[in-house]
Amino acid sequence: MAETQRSWCVVGGGMLGLTLAWRLSEVGQQVTVVEAAPELGGLASAWQLGGITWDRHYHVTLLSDSFLRTLLKEIDLDDEFEWRITQTGFYADGGLFRLNNAIDYLKFPPLNFIDKVRLAGTIMYASRIEDGRSLERVPLTEWLIKLSGKRVFELIWRPLLRAKLGDNYTQASASFIWAVIRRLYAARRSGLKTEMFGFIPGSYDRILKRLSERLTARGVSLELGCPVESIERTGNGVQVRSRLGDQQYDQVVVTLAGPLASKVCVGLKPEEKERLEGIVYQGIVCASLVLKRPLTQYYLTYITDETIPFTAIVEMTALIGTEQLDGRSLIYLPRYVTSEDPYWALSDAEVEEHFMAGLRRMHPGLAPDDILAFRISRVRQVLAISTLNYSDRLPPMITSVPGLHVVNSAHIVNGTLNVNETVGLAESAMPKLLAAAEPSGQSD
Ligand SMILES: Cc1cc2nc3c(=O)[nH]c(=O)nc-3n(C[C@H](O)[C@H](O)[C@H](O)COP(=O)(O)OP(=O)(O)OC[C@H]3O[C@@H](n4cnc5c(N)ncnc54)[C@H](O)[C@@H]3O)c2cc1C
Repeated sequence: MAETQRSWCVVGGGMLGLTLAWRLSEVGQQVTVVEAAPELGGLASAWQLGGITWDRHYHVTLLSDSFLRTLLKEIDLDDEFEWRITQTGFYADGGLFRLNNAIDYLKFPPLNFIDKVRLAGTIMYASRIEDGRSLERVPLTEWLIKLSGKRVFELIWRPLLRAKLGDNYTQASASFIWAVIRRLYAARRSGLKTEMFGFIPGSYDRILKRLSERLTARGVSLELGCPVESIERTGNGVQVRSRLGDQQYDQVVVTLAGPLASKVCVGLKPEEKERLEGIVYQGIVCASLVLKRPLTQYYLTYITDETIPFTAIVEMTALIGTEQLDGRSLIYLPRYVTSEDPYWALSDAEVEEHFMAGLRRMHPGLAPDDILAFRISRVRQVLAISTLNYSDRLPPMITSVPGLHVVNSAHIVNGTLNVNETVGLAESAMPKLLAAAEPSGQSD
């Protein structure tokens, strides 16, 4: 059935907002995307660093990322993926170890034989659980210690969790690690059991440019550099206030993180605001470095030493190859942080000093003139932590204000934050949004 044409405003031009705009325009809706930043993409946007353009935060796609790959097929980009097998390292006890296959694992010195059996058993067990919902009631730390033992938790799980969640891991439920393990298992090619990571040459910059061209061709307006100040129901629709003035739409979908959405949406009930503001987010302080030479062969190096100020090293060029970047190497040093982390108060120069000291401890051969560029990204609301009983406390997508909807990454339940799940969230929200836009349709 053809949809009645309505005017829609999508607030936030990240991958979620852009996918919603793509789907709404596909069914004939008139769409405007309003984005605060001067460019599209949000967390997935690209930036300039030492003369190269690449993602502000590291991004890979898995072979099994079917929602994202379907979207990229529609904009004629899926064929451009390059798929590679990557290597993983582990920095423990002052040494760097390979950890790619069963043989590396059996040789891995920090764990004894019993530890290894318990760790492998935990992963196998988690990968076979079909529905992670019941794990939402179980504290993550408790679950892992029960299955793997305290030693394995301290030596392996804690550093892995800190690399993904920072100190927020203490608040997470066991459904978080279940979702991570499930995603990584889905990535393995059947039979070979090998992870394949993919990227599009040119980075997300290329994806975002193509998406923006195709959206424009469908008549979607993309308003950049326009922070939305407030959204309010008026007699004849929903009014969005920004530097464009007060604009009226039939329907508005806000894709901003909970506390930001709560701030701009006027007229929500106190319990709706409480739910939006009650989501625990983790942030990130993430450095990008351009180096003259490769650092290691590992795409990802986990770090068990908590005196190193970042939680992992992501060597992007170990995946994409230095030929993408005129022979230079690109690495990221992420520090996942709680909202109280002392790093929020540090200047960029101080963060650089601490991070470089940590990197030189791990790689004493790294000379100052090996570093060609260093740039820091900070984002306060990156990932909604799957706290205990998370799904029971989710804010509604269809709010009590007619025509005003909030869909954001906090609605990814029992999943991990990645573009595939973000696109999947847009797909699952679409029928609810279209139904709510009908005259009788205010329900979630
Ligand atoms: C360090 C890091 C590594 C990652 N690695 C991967 C990976 O390897 N693979 C993968 O698939 N995914 C990865 N992701 C996750 C991926 O980036 C996200 O899933 C995705 O980009 C989220 O999109 P979004 O639209 O939900 O949110 P966002 O990108 O946060 O979009 C929200 C948008 O709203 C805008 N906004 C905020 N306030 C206003 C306002 N008042 N008015 C208008 N606009 C506003 C923001 O500027 C932003 O553009 C990673 C993320 C990070 C941070």
